[in-house]
Amino acid sequence: ATESFEPDNHGAGNSAASRDKAYFLHPYTNLHAHETQGPLIIERGEGVRVFDDSGKEYIEGLASLWCVSLGWGEERLVEAATRQMRKLPTYHVFGHKSHEPGIDLAERLIKLAPVPMSKVFFANSGSEANDTAVKLVWYYNNALGRPEKKKILSRVKAYHGVTVATASLTGLVNNHRDFDLPIARIQHTDCPHHYRFAEPGESEEDFATRLAESLEALILAEGPETIAAMFAEPVMGAGGVIVPPATYFAKIQPILKKYDILLVADEVICGFGRTGNFWGSQTMGMQPDILTCAKQLSSGYLPISAVMVSDAVYRACVEESKKIGTFGHGYTYSAHPVAAAVAIETLKIYEERDLVGHVRAVAPLFQRRLKALADHPLVGEARGVGLIGALELVADKETKTPFDPVGRAGAVVNGLSQENGLIIRAMGDSVAVCPPLVIGEEDINRMFDRLTTALDAAIPVLRG
Ligand code: PMP
Repeated sequence: ATESFEPDNHGAGNSAASRDKAYFLHPYTNLHAHETQGPLIIERGEGVRVFDDSGKEYIEGLASLWCVSLGWGEERLVEAATRQMRKLPTYHVFGHKSHEPGIDLAERLIKLAPVPMSKVFFANSGSEANDTAVKLVWYYNNALGRPEKKKILSRVKAYHGVTVATASLTGLVNNHRDFDLPIARIQHTDCPHHYRFAEPGESEEDFATRLAESLEALILAEGPETIAAMFAEPVMGAGGVIVPPATYFAKIQPILKKYDILLVADEVICGFGRTGNFWGSQTMGMQPDILTCAKQLSSGYLPISAVMVSDAVYRACVEESKKIGTFGHGYTYSAHPVAAAVAIETLKIYEERDLVGHVRAVAPLFQRRLKALADHPLVGEARGVGLIGALELVADKETKTPFDPVGRAGAVVNGLSQENGLIIRAMGDSVAVCPPLVIGEEDINRMFDRLTTALDAAIPVLRG
């Protein structure tokens, strides 16, 4: 007799919240707390706002996860997706196959690149793009007959994703602990956060010089012939929105060049106008050999990411393929035609509406309101550039002593902001703001008014 499978309902009631708790394993969520707290269910979005299932309105101060540049309800993206869905909803690009949306998007990205780039590889997420970049770096060095040159440098507090290799590059304890990471051949160098890591009295310039010297010392200690690449976000995002000193990249890039080490710019957050230039690499003076991007590439409406490679990297890979045959890497959904069509439309909108010009026009107000919060009793540092910023909460402004336990203050301000109709993101005791790029001055003011209310309400909770 066959036994029929009778799924039990895990104790779920009929409400969406109880079904969520019964069935849904959430990413980046305190799983234990979720069992009692349950989800915040977002039902719809409009412009820079989202609404939960009770109808409550929130300004989305983090653009979902740093990605919804055009805000919610952009009909042109819906139409681009619908058109492509009807014509060719899906097709792959393996084994010499191609399609117009993939070709068009590759051409547009190469023409937009901050430095001369040769080819574009497509993936579906920031993690996959960076994982691809790791593999390309290894493939490249095998192609050049340097099998020992494989180690990859990243930085403390970097965020490059969560696959096995990219979580290893990520320089945050939570992404390593209990996952048995990092893997071998990954090394972390200093975080360029002056407020936290400068010596007393050390200028930004001297701090940058010291970090460059420390990088060179690490390279020499490991052996330059073993180091293949360094990954760097122009502005570190999920590590706490850390803007490096102005001369940081100018000081480290000659060292990378000297030892023939590739620079991979992770533009997953900074790409497409976030920092006030089209690329974060332009804002920070980076000349990468490989550039990865995602998120705002499609305004977050569909998953798509890209890896751009220099001609030198591409040529070496072609030579290797001449010897060994097929380049054995690719995703079923690489250059997915619907995602590519939405990305193309997104790039057209950026150009037509001069979104970078808009960011430059409203960023001064954003940065003024952000930096005014440095005077708040709970704020140790207010930092940012363009339309991205963070506040670091401290127990003692003079000594920069964090609250105990670390992470509670961030969670408290995050929760109070949400109560006040503002969604932000806490990373430890730093809270980040990174609204849709289309935000206007009135909503920037509203956003910071709500954040100020939340900070004021947090004082008695944290000090009381
Ligand atoms: N790189 C950076 C700089 C990121 O901010 C992120 C995601 N926040 C990633 C990579 C990983 O992207 P994804 O979550 O799409 O895998």
